[in-house]
Amino acid sequence: MVESSPQIPTGVPTAARVYDVMLGGKDNYAVDRAVAEASLAIMPELRDIALHNRAILHRVVRYLAAEEGITQFLDLGSGLPTVRNTHEVAQEINPQAHVVYVDIDPIVLAHGRAILADNANTTVVTADIRNPGDLLGRPEVRALIDFDQPVCVMLVGILHHLADDEKPGQIVQVLRDAMPSGSFFFITNFTRLGDAPESVALEKQLLEQLGTGRVRTPAELATFFDGLEILPPGLVPLPLWRPEEPVLDASTIDVRFMTGGVGRKP
Ligand code: SAM
Repeated sequence: MVESSPQIPTGVPTAARVYDVMLGGKDNYAVDRAVAEASLAIMPELRDIALHNRAILHRVVRYLAAEEGITQFLDLGSGLPTVRNTHEVAQEINPQAHVVYVDIDPIVLAHGRAILADNANTTVVTADIRNPGDLLGRPEVRALIDFDQPVCVMLVGILHHLADDEKPGQIVQVLRDAMPSGSFFFITNFTRLGDAPESVALEKQLLEQLGTGRVRTPAELATFFDGLEILPPGLVPLPLWRPEEPVLDASTIDVRFMTGGVGRKP
């Protein structure tokens, strides 16, 4: 359980802390656990889905650091520190890799600071991606990210926390326009499954209890990659993105509920 602090409201659930419950973390409160339990009652696979999301994050960061020579990672909506974070994966390959974690929830900064105390190449910033201009201009971001060199912009499990009227597609466009050619965008998102009413029920529950949780169709998700060259194997269920072990059954909800992919700015 986390210590309470005036900056950390404990009476309302937050996405970062509900996700921490799913991952088996300890940085959450009763209000967060109540939302997580209600979600799990609708879709018991959510714990596995969260693990699939972490696993693709590890594969993509490793691939981009090792094979594409990416040395800068802007991890937007990074969430609470958990097992194997972006900087650990990237800096295992290149100790000089720079990683900036950004999250709207101040609890992420509170916990990140302690972990990163002696890591000069990594920082945590509290900011809202709905104001990308502010975020990109922050001195803490500019201190570690050189926008003249390719960047990996990570939007992993965050865009479903933006409502349609918050225009997530336009936010991605602003970010894309600010990055140099050769930059990568790595996006994962909840997916509406035509044959699984749970995906609709989950959206309703999350919108009611958490205030965010937009489950989008594959066609809607594809628009986030406008103007980018999508790397093989495409925009796919998370476990199918360059798996290290064969996926024996790709028909289950835990495999299909989240979709992800990596796009390169030409
Ligand atoms: N990226 C991590 C992962 O995939 O393992 C964590 C994903 S977690 C489900 C979503 C995170 O996005 C939460 O930590 C939440 O606080 C953050 N978030 C939601 N809306 C945001 C916004 N407008 N700006 C910045 N962060 C936001």
